[in-house]
Amino acid sequence: MNIVKTLITAIILVFSIVVTAQQKYAIVIHGGAGVMSKEKMTEEQQSNYAAKLNEALNLGEKMLKEGANATDVVVKVINVLEDSPLFNAGKGAVFTHDEKVELDASIMDGKNLNAGAVAGVRDIKNPINAALEVMINSKHVFLSGEGASEFAKKQKLEIVPNNYFYTDSRFESLMKLKKRERERTRQDNTGTVGCAVLDTKGNIAAGTSTGGMTNKKYGRIGDAPVIGAGTYANNKTCAVSCTGHGEYYIRLAFARDVSALMEYKNLSVEEACREEIRKLSELNGTGGVIALDNEGNIAMEFNTSGMFRGYLKSSGEREVAIFK
Ligand code: ASP
Repeated sequence: MNIVKTLITAIILVFSIVVTAQQKYAIVIHGGAGVMSKEKMTEEQQSNYAAKLNEALNLGEKMLKEGANATDVVVKVINVLEDSPLFNAGKGAVFTHDEKVELDASIMDGKNLNAGAVAGVRDIKNPINAALEVMINSKHVFLSGEGASEFAKKQKLEIVPNNYFYTDSRFESLMKLKKRERERTRQDNTGTVGCAVLDTKGNIAAGTSTGGMTNKKYGRIGDAPVIGAGTYANNKTCAVSCTGHGEYYIRLAFARDVSALMEYKNLSVEEACREEIRKLSELNGTGGVIALDNEGNIAMEFNTSGMFRGYLKSSGEREVAIFK
């Protein structure tokens, strides 16, 4: 009789461990890295940023508790940031040299290495949704410009005129930059958004959305929509989203390299991100990265003076921060 009791207790214990393990979740987000000084940012501005980052994290947590998939959470969390004029993605994106807005976004599902991306789009309200549609409803990975818009229309995504993305502050940044007639500065681009998620089924995903860099010309495309540069996810290792001077991230194959360092060198997600930021600094590149592994361990690394960032975990741990 005693053996039966012990057996039943053991089965219940194993079952509850499995259930608890499955219900583990985590989210980490960024709203761009760059030159930021505490002195120059008012208390009000700081709390506006913190409030938006918290709103995005809260929505993600609600979805995860309801059992949502990592990719769906990535999209909805990024939508909150794309719809805010505070960030350089969707509404509030930076201007090109031609005084237009051109947006890039990508998403990757760590479960099956599926991915979708769009670049240089001018009329898709939420580019991350277009990236998701490319991933799930097309046989391609990467669409650009008018073709991407045509596809988005077919998928019934919301289309807006280019002036929907207009904000005074981003336009002024462009004007200042043109007047100064010098190389673009990091400060004006700050605000790319990204998200990495571990869902309750143990799957991970990442996404990134941006307006790119102020004053960009000739159809320039950065790292954000490039799978392996600005975004990467693999259930075996980690989910990664980057922000910073895109050309360096492309040259380093940054996001994929973080995953490779974990896979081939057995580094932790934090060690891998630090190593990659070290390589970025070595090239004199600037920026940051957020990532999480399949256990929900978080990394938020950058070599700039600040990065809008935040994370939360099912354990209750949580943080939102801006400066170093
Ligand atoms: N990585 C983006 C780009 O180069 C910009 C940024 O994250 O600030 O387009």
